[in-house]
Parts: sequence; structure tokens; C-alpha cells
Amino acid sequence: MIDDMTCDVCGGKLPGALDSIPLSSDAGMWVTCGHCLATAIVMDSGEVLRPPYRPTSDRWCAAVDESCTPEIEHAVVTRALTLCGADIDREGFIGQDYSWSPLRQTACPKCRSVAVEVDERWPAGHRGRGAGNHTSC
Ligand SMILES: [Zn+2]
Ligand SMILES: [Zn+2]
Repeated sequence: MIDDMTCDVCGGKLPGALDSIPLSSDAGMWVTCGHCLATAIVMDSGEVLRPPYRPTSDRWCAAVDESCTPEIEHAVVTRALTLCGADIDREGFIGQDYSWSPLRQTACPKCRSVAVEVDERWPAGHRGRGAGNHTSC
């Protein structure tokens, strides 16, 4: 089912581009577009829920890399990866309960440039709260 989806945000072709994260057997599956990084929840019924657009300063959780001096903050895209492609399971990474922001001095420069890049792939028409299906979170 997921194999022949296209991203309804950027229109990208998705075979292989979705990073599927099983949520639990009865709550559907979180998927992330490999092109614009929009997330969606695919329910077992086939229904797709699309969380609303969020600005890059309020879209991803932060994780601090304590092995760097000074410490830098990365944006966490999936359970295991940051925007810059670092593995957050590695030692020294501490997940935070606040949002990552590209405006913070400690923000990882590579995460920041990827954030700008994927944000530009998100069409303006899909940024409003009224666009498409979405959940309230
Ligand atoms: Zn997309
Ligand atoms: Zn980073």
C-alpha cells in the first residue's frame, strides 16, 4: 500500500523514499517523505492523516550532541536520524523535549541548511491549516 503512494505535499514519487516507522499494530504507521520530509500517518484502513504544516523552528524535536564542545543541537526527523543524517542512538546524543530551532546559536549548521532546503520543497498552498487532512497535533 505504501509502496505506490505519492507525497501529497510535494508530489514526489515515493517508492523507496518513505522512511516507514511502524507505530503499533493498530494505530497505523508514521511515514516521512524522503523529499520534503512531510510526515503522515497511514492508518490500517488506508486513510492518511496529515499533520499540519509547522515552521522549521517548531517541526522537529531537538537532540543535543554532548560529545561536541560546545554542544550542538540537531533536529530529530525519525526515531533514529537527525536532519544532517547523524545516528541519534550513538553515545553522547541526548534527546530533548523541546523543539529544535534553526535560530538557536547552538543549532547544527548542517541540520539548518537541510531544514531550509526541505522547507522550500513544501508548497505554500500546503502550509495552511485548511490544506488536506490533518490531525490536531
Ligand atoms: Zn514530499
Ligand atoms: Zn545536525
